[in-house]
Amino acid sequence: MPSPSAAKVVLEAQLAELEGRQQRLAQDLAEPLNRDSSEQAVEVEDDVALEQQAALIAREVASVRRALTRIENGTYGSCARCGDEIGSKRLDARPEAALCIDCARNEQ
Ligand SMILES: [Zn+2]
Repeated sequence: MPSPSAAKVVLEAQLAELEGRQQRLAQDLAEPLNRDSSEQAVEVEDDVALEQQAALIAREVASVRRALTRIENGTYGSCARCGDEIGSKRLDARPEAALCIDCARNEQ
């Protein structure tokens, strides 16, 4: 399993990246709609896509923050559901993972 301090560096970089994207999305969403009606339809569609992206990023931010909290608590790397160790391959691929692969599969 990757050491918690190495994971923390990765997670903090991820968090900074996600927050940067959040800010850019918020700016895009704050732009006033174009008055031309055909343009407006496109922009409304864009806004829906942007809102979906924003919701997705907000979820990622939350799970990265929770992973950082688990590092603080010393519970990082243990499954939040069954308490088993989360495999190192899984943590390499998804350092913010809170569940072991078995519990994550059951979740879906
Ligand atoms: Zn589990």
